[in-house]
Amino acid sequence: MEIKTIPLVKGDGVGPEVTASMVAIIDAAVEKAYGEQRRIVWKEVLAGGKAFETCGTYLPDETLEAFKEYHIGIKGPLMTPVGGGIRSLNVALRQGLDLYVCQRPVRWYKGVESPVKHPEKVDMVIFRENTEDIYAGIEWEAGTPEAEKFYAFLRDEMGVTKVRFPRTSAFGVKPVSKEGTERLVRAACQYAVDHNRPSVTLVHKGNIMKFTEGGFKKWGYELAQREFGDYISSGRLVIKDCICDAFLQNALLKPEEYSVIATLNLNGDYISDQLAAQVGGIGIAPGANINYSTGDAIFEATHGTAPDIAGKNIVNPCSNVLSGVMMLEHIGWNEAAALVEKALEESFSQGYATVDLARLMENGKPLGTVEFTENIVRRIYESK
Ligand code: NAD
Repeated sequence: MEIKTIPLVKGDGVGPEVTASMVAIIDAAVEKAYGEQRRIVWKEVLAGGKAFETCGTYLPDETLEAFKEYHIGIKGPLMTPVGGGIRSLNVALRQGLDLYVCQRPVRWYKGVESPVKHPEKVDMVIFRENTEDIYAGIEWEAGTPEAEKFYAFLRDEMGVTKVRFPRTSAFGVKPVSKEGTERLVRAACQYAVDHNRPSVTLVHKGNIMKFTEGGFKKWGYELAQREFGDYISSGRLVIKDCICDAFLQNALLKPEEYSVIATLNLNGDYISDQLAAQVGGIGIAPGANINYSTGDAIFEATHGTAPDIAGKNIVNPCSNVLSGVMMLEHIGWNEAAALVEKALEESFSQGYATVDLARLMENGKPLGTVEFTENIVRRIYESK
């Protein structure tokens, strides 16, 4: 029997509920698809509130070590500690493992209420750069000696005269590198090739930020041509680009023209949420943070800890469940992944969902988290 050990962080708030659901559904799919041949062993590791209560630290070294040792892991939502040096546990995990791709697949499930007429035309996978850009956390608050010093440097050393209100300005720095761009675009192109996707679109704002976002576009095209030239010349893969504001329009007007999206950190943040909303999936969108060079990957629910509904058996577990599906695909257990997707499709199309989705459906039949999970598990086992 092939056994895969997966480190698992249950998470805070609704985390334990969505994790229990994900484990039950993924285990059922693996058993149905592979019988005695394959199994997942879940190894609980701690992060967030539970880690703090048990070990006095929000992110124990053992947790990072486990993720490194087993290369993949999955996590529920984590509370953001107030004070204490860690800005966000998720950011700390991404940085600790240098998970440079934030991957978000976006597709519509029949039955799910969407604000657009043709949500079925959306089928994209977003590759958002995860380590650079204005998100790198290099900024100084207005009115501080640091901001003043930074402005003095700009003015005196760099000859910058364009800061409109220097005395009351905060400053941020936007690093975008050739290396960072290349590894992200390489991962996006490889994904497109491996998954028979027709195009990669580089989304940027290079018309205004010529060296950072413009650099991303230029380095992206060069990398694609250099490393995927054969696929491009044979017409198997199309590389194109789009200015970010136009892309947000086009994604609404002609989403069928886009497949894999490669973009910078901030653009990717906006794009992920717009596209998820477009398919009615903001509450169920899954995500993964991946380092394609080391193979390290952490799959995660994209919502927060939802403390207002924790313990009430109403949380929608699908974000975590679908991140489990991404994990199965990542390790090549595609048959099990397909079983979960099929069961969810069936369930939604018949109106069975947790209350957040069911109340928006025409024939919605709301189920509690536990009952919804049982409904999906049953569909998996009954699947032909
Ligand atoms: P949230 O996502 O936890 O909740 C926002 C609203 O959406 C709440 O009303 C909640 O009940 C609802 N909601 C969220 N997930 C749901 C689900 N699966 N099913 C049904 N309803 C759901 O965002 P927040 O309140 O801003 O953040 C709460 C905590 O979570 C904060 O500590 C924040 O830092 C943290 N957070 C963590 C992550 C993460 O770990 N990936 C992401 C976002 C926020």
